[in-house]
This record gives sequence, structure tokens and C-alpha cells, in this order.
Amino acid sequence: MDPRRPHVALLPSAGMGHLTPFSRLAASLSEHCHVTMLSILPTVSAAESRHYTDLFSSYPNIHPLHFQLPPFDSSAYPDADPFFLRWTCIRDSASDIFNHLLTTSRFPISALVIDSIAGAILPLTKSSGMPCYVLFTSSAAMLSFFKYFPTYRDSNPVSTGDVEIPGLRTVPVASLPRPLHDPSHLFTQSLVQNARSMVESDGIIVNTFESFEPDSLAWLRGRQSQSQSQSQSQPDFPPVIAVGPLKPVKISISTVPTVLTWLDQQPEKSVVYISFGSRTGMPKEQIRELGLGLEASGCRFVWVIKTSVVDTEDQTELGELLGEGFLQRVKNRGLVTNKWVEQEEVLRHKAVGGFVSHCGWNSVTEAAMHGVRVLAWPRLGDQRINADVVARSGLGVWPEDWSWEGEEGIVSATEISRKLKEMMADESLLEMAQKVGEAARSAAMLGKGLAETKQIIYIPAKAKQ
Ligand code: UDP
Ligand code: UDP
Repeated sequence: MDPRRPHVALLPSAGMGHLTPFSRLAASLSEHCHVTMLSILPTVSAAESRHYTDLFSSYPNIHPLHFQLPPFDSSAYPDADPFFLRWTCIRDSASDIFNHLLTTSRFPISALVIDSIAGAILPLTKSSGMPCYVLFTSSAAMLSFFKYFPTYRDSNPVSTGDVEIPGLRTVPVASLPRPLHDPSHLFTQSLVQNARSMVESDGIIVNTFESFEPDSLAWLRGRQSQSQSQSQSQPDFPPVIAVGPLKPVKISISTVPTVLTWLDQQPEKSVVYISFGSRTGMPKEQIRELGLGLEASGCRFVWVIKTSVVDTEDQTELGELLGEGFLQRVKNRGLVTNKWVEQEEVLRHKAVGGFVSHCGWNSVTEAAMHGVRVLAWPRLGDQRINADVVARSGLGVWPEDWSWEGEEGIVSATEISRKLKEMMADESLLEMAQKVGEAARSAAMLGKGLAETKQIIYIPAKAKQ
């Protein structure tokens, strides 16, 4: 252990959508400095728990630091999303977590990387003089919205409409995370508080790349073109670094082996992969309609089904869920699972030619990395803002009238089948997606964003030693 090397600690809050980019960043940083990764226990999902175990055993350079949360009384938040509850609980325990980090660490921490708990952590790092960075786990488009929304809220305290971000774009009210429609909602209040606090951080790292989101990145940096120095910041905003696309971690678990073996036997670019991420359960009626749409489309497919928000509660029996005879009818061209699959491996496979995605940001960046066409079907939260990036960049298409959280109506099998066939037959979309893929891989290979991240983190860290 070389005490002259910086020691960076990372603190992801809750959910695979946060843990995934944190692991990727931790793995990259661990090549050059000491890395401590906090794991807050118990995790909400079994997927997170497995991921931590695999990460720590595959990357011995990443030092685990566990923190056991005290019991949390959730009765004040009836029907709240379990991941949001966990976020609230971590925020409430922020000073204990920070003290734990300071007192049990092997040697002094030179910088801390956090996510959406900026409001609770930044006052602590500020008062102890520790540099602190935010790894923003969504798109630069979402970060632009984050940056502007507190200002919007100040001038629109009682209602929410379309949000016109001056000099960038208008985010229609229909694309906003649903809770934000209500100014007094706890989610809205904490998001605004968090967005205001993020300004106090020493830098914001986003898992995106320059050519994927040029307008949002330029706007965040307060200028119109990309020609100026990358880490230049606006006077009132920290430097924004496009670090992505972050490369996947190489952990020893693998996907359900049958998925890859099955893909090996399919023609190139013939298979549609369907997944709505790690925490978006779909209503049963919509699942059935999606199944019928897949069947009617005649496409080959791999379909990962989730019916619950937390994986440990998913007790679905697939045959029953999908209706009599479905699995039998599609068995020669479709594979359905409710298990965890290593999505990266699936998207990288040459047989995969399209991805029906909820547009969680990790899924979007993974599709971009492999140049896989996306049929965007956002379901909640930041996903419509991300779907807009997918459509604007040419990576995919987004049928904006498809329903999402809180809206009546399901998308019919006929409509789904039509869009699927359209996407899989669209050669020019394939070409555009492949171009995005080339740009993504070249950004990852050049590693400019990562080099800049290391520079911004290591230099102040070293100066402190
Ligand atoms: N993921 C996976 N297998 C699954 C479900 C999800 O590997 O069966 C991964 C996916 O590749 C991505 C992450 O989990 O890296 C999910 O993050 P994303 O931002 O796409 O969506 P979220 O789950 O946060 O809604
Ligand atoms: N978020 C936040 N404050 C909150 C809840 C969420 O800043 O009280 C952030 C969250 O980290 C994410 C965005 O708001 O960047 C959208 O939240 P959502 O729950 O949709 O997505 P998540 O990233 O949690 O999967």
C-alpha cells in the first residue's frame, strides 16, 4: 500500500442503476489509486447483494467498507418505492456513514464520490475540507433538467407545466418524472434540494460521451460549442465531465447460460432483446399484450420479465403469467426468463439486432456501446428524458404516445407488433445505431473523459496530502 497515492471513496445509494456505474468507475480508478467502495447493508435487491460480492472478489484492489443501516420506520411513507425509501434512509444516516468512513478507513480519504445524496453529504465534506464529486447516474439531458429545475420551481411554486430550459430545449410536462407534477411531493422537494446542493460539489461526472449529447453538455458548461476546454465550468456550476461510456466490470458470474447458447444458434442481428431494467415491474395485462405483440411480429426474441419492483418479491410462474400455450407456441424463436441475465453480454452478442428498452440510463449507454437499435418504451422517472436522447442521437425510435406511469391505457399487441417489425426492418436506423456504436467505442477507447476524471480527482487529492 502506497500512502502517496490518492485514496478515493465511493458511496452509491440504492439500486443497480446506481451501483452499475459506480462499480465501473471504481474499477477504472483502482488501476491508479486506492479505492474504497461503501456498501450500505442490507441492500434492497438480491441483484445488488450478488453484485457487491462478485465485485469485491473479482477486484481485490477495491476495498469494501460495509455500513449497516439502523432499522427504518417506513410507516410515514405508505406505498413509497422501496428504492426511494432506501435513498431516504441513507440520507438520514449520512453523518453516521460519513463518520464511519472517516474513522474506519485504513488511511485518510482524499476524495469522495457520491450520487443523489449530495444534499446530505456535501455539508459534511465541505466542513472537513474533503473534495467531493457527484457521479450523476442519468443522462446529461437529465442533468440539464436538474440544473434548471430549482429555478423553474422558484418561478412556478404551485404548479408544473412544460419546462423550458433557456438556450437548450423544452421538456414537456408529460416527460417529467410523475411525482414532479406535484410541487409538494417529497420526491420533488428532495430532488430540488439535491439539485441545489450539487452546485457545491467539486465536479459532476456523467456516464455519457461528447457526440451522444453535445447540446446538453455544451449547455451545462455554459457555451455553445465543444471546441473549448472540457472541464471549463460556468461560474455558478461545477465542471461537468463526460466520462463515458464506462466499460463494464469483468465479474466472474455469467448470464443464464442458456441465453448465450441460444443466441449462438440465431442468425446475425435477427433477435430482439426486451428488458425494462432491474426495478421496473410491468402490469400483468401489459405483459400479456407485449407477449402477443412479440408473437404476432414473427421476430426472434429474448425477453426478460419482471413483475415486481424488488427482485426478491418476484415469484411469478411464467406459463401462468403469459397465458396458456404461449411458451409452447414461441419456443422455436423466443426465449423468456424472469432471472437476471448479464445484459452487457446479451447486447454484445452478434445475433442481437434490436432492444426494446425502458431507457434506464445504463441500458441506453450499453446499447450505444454495442450500436444496438433501440425501441424506447420509457416507463417512469427520468426514462422519457433519456428516451428523447435515444431518438435525437439516432440510436433508436421512441413512440411518444405509448403509455407510462400513472397513465390510463395499455399499448396493444397490434401496435407493439407493428413497431417491432418496423424497427427490425429499418436498415437506416441500424446504420445510424452502428455509427453511434462506433463513436461510443472510440470515446471509451480514447478514454479522454476518464483521464479528465482522474485528473480532476487526483490533483486536488494529491495537493491535500
Ligand atoms: N441488468 C442486467 N440484467 C438484468 C437487468 C438489468 O444486467 O436482468 C443491468 C443492466 O445492464 C444495467 C442495470 O442492470 O446495467 C440497470 O440499470 P438501468 O439504468 O438500465 O435501469 P434501472 O434498473 O436502474 O431502471
Ligand atoms: N433523485 C434525487 N432525489 C430524490 C430521488 C431521486 O435527486 O429524492 C434523483 C435520482 O438519483 C435520479 C433522478 O432523480 O438521478 C431520477 O430519479 P429516479 O427515481 O427516476 O431514478 P433512479 O436513478 O433512482 O433509478
